[in-house]
Amino acid sequence: MDKFVTSFFNILFPKTCVSCENPIYDKNNILCSDCFSKLGFTYYKNFVENPLYEKFIGQANIEYAYALCYFYKDGILQHCLHALKYKGHKDVGTFFGKLIGYELNDIDPPVDIIIPVPLHPKKEKVRGYNQAEMIAKGVSKVLKIPIAINIIKRTKFTETQTKKTKWERYDNLNGVFAIQNSKSLANKHVLIVDDVITTGATTVSLIDLLKDIENIKISVACIGTPDKI
Ligand SMILES: [Zn+2]
Repeated sequence: MDKFVTSFFNILFPKTCVSCENPIYDKNNILCSDCFSKLGFTYYKNFVENPLYEKFIGQANIEYAYALCYFYKDGILQHCLHALKYKGHKDVGTFFGKLIGYELNDIDPPVDIIIPVPLHPKKEKVRGYNQAEMIAKGVSKVLKIPIAINIIKRTKFTETQTKKTKWERYDNLNGVFAIQNSKSLANKHVLIVDDVITTGATTVSLIDLLKDIENIKISVACIGTPDKI
């Protein structure tokens, strides 16, 4: 559709806020201004040893941990994440990814590559996409850095037991990830991206898989984290 038709269409059928369903006329937004103002931003940007970072102390060696918002049950963010995961709203992921990108655009050392936390292939097939990858796309657009594709996959313990593939098997208690081409991450500052980090156990499993790669630096970013951890 050309621009004129698109704007005409938007007036007739405006987008609706993913939280309260009121109309919104800015096609780049996913929330009305009222819901946006109630998101509950953490302002962790200038707070390196924030509660999310502290969660990883003693479990994983990371540079930065960043959460954009606090996650409350029945809050605006939960509505957004529900739309992202269960209603096909990929744009919710890229929207928040861009916001994360703007917040991280001056971290030092700068991030070189983004790793979205992989979804189990069966889950991804049902959903049609990996929501963390949608967030990564937004971050990637703003920071102008690539997303690592086909380096990490989520696997099942039984599959890795029975099939010998080029994937390097990784089993701990969670045993959910496998890696290939790990050398491509040498000397890189990688940013692991996920929608919500609560206990951090999944993220730690992923970091365990990456941590011995030569001269790697690891940071973590997510949209939401509970305010009381
Ligand atoms: Zn709203």
